[in-house]
Amino acid sequence: MRKRQYDSVMSAIQDVYGGQTGEVHMQRVYGGDINDAYQVKLSNGETVFLKTNTFGRLHFFETEIDGLLAMRATKQIGVPKPLGFGTDQDKGISFLMLEFIHGTSRRETYWEHFGHQLASMHKAECSQFVTGEDRDVKYGFLTDNYIGSNPQKNSLKSSWISFYRDCRLAPQMNMAEGYFDPKMRKQCRYLLDHLDAYLREPEDSSLLHGDLWSGNVICGNDGNAWILDPASYVGDFETDLAMTQLFGSFPASFYAAYHEINPIEKDFFERRDIYHLYHLLNHLNLFGRSYLGSVRDILNRYTTIK
Ligand code: ADP
Repeated sequence: MRKRQYDSVMSAIQDVYGGQTGEVHMQRVYGGDINDAYQVKLSNGETVFLKTNTFGRLHFFETEIDGLLAMRATKQIGVPKPLGFGTDQDKGISFLMLEFIHGTSRRETYWEHFGHQLASMHKAECSQFVTGEDRDVKYGFLTDNYIGSNPQKNSLKSSWISFYRDCRLAPQMNMAEGYFDPKMRKQCRYLLDHLDAYLREPEDSSLLHGDLWSGNVICGNDGNAWILDPASYVGDFETDLAMTQLFGSFPASFYAAYHEINPIEKDFFERRDIYHLYHLLNHLNLFGRSYLGSVRDILNRYTTIK
């Protein structure tokens, strides 16, 4: 497991690849929401992926490594290897250096394979990521982390419904308070108080990617899906599936293959919007009012308050 902190990008490169190695070419990579990203070609012929942000965002990258390492530890799906993180005083940045995933064309059974691999990751042993004194703990994560650039609490809990209420919906609802009218405030309170009428305690907990939209999936040089940029924690696998259906959807063959390994219950669709609500609130808090209508629609669907 590699989670080394460095005091410059160059010291990270030279520790990983040897003292003579330098960077020969840096090219911007677009597609992310939050950070600046680069493909960096090195003098030894290797290529690394570098994400940077302002100096103060070091913790953001540290927690991304925790998520990447946890998903890699399941050995079920392609996840880029973290090579180091740190700050660079001269450049005024914090950074994360990863194995560069060179794309190629998708194998014919790309979606089926991806469905099998994600389901296998969700079924993998995950108790090591929720270690605490209380042996009943099933949900949470080793550390708090971030969803986009907003904080994400991962306090250890024995109940999924309590976890989803206290660590997911309530903090985002509090953050979004200024956007809500009195009716929406009441609806939020009602939903938090009645969450057990809509959600269920899953049979097993799963290690989750946590932010699984199509922009966080790329095809690796094995022709398979690799998953990136996680907001990982241990929770209900349905939340990852819900996220894949928030902005469009993966093809039906993905879900059919997923179902072969980890069955999707029929009433998943009744819970899906409540899992969408977390991400829509987060988008409202990150990007503004254009997400308010979608939040309101979901609150209207699950509450009957006038
Ligand atoms: P952000 O944290 O800003 O959202 P991402 O982690 O999503 O940034 O990365 C931005 C883009 O860079 C991704 O959409 C993907 O196309 C590409 N990318 C991310 N990680 C790698 C990697 N390890 N190798 C190659 N390309 C990557």
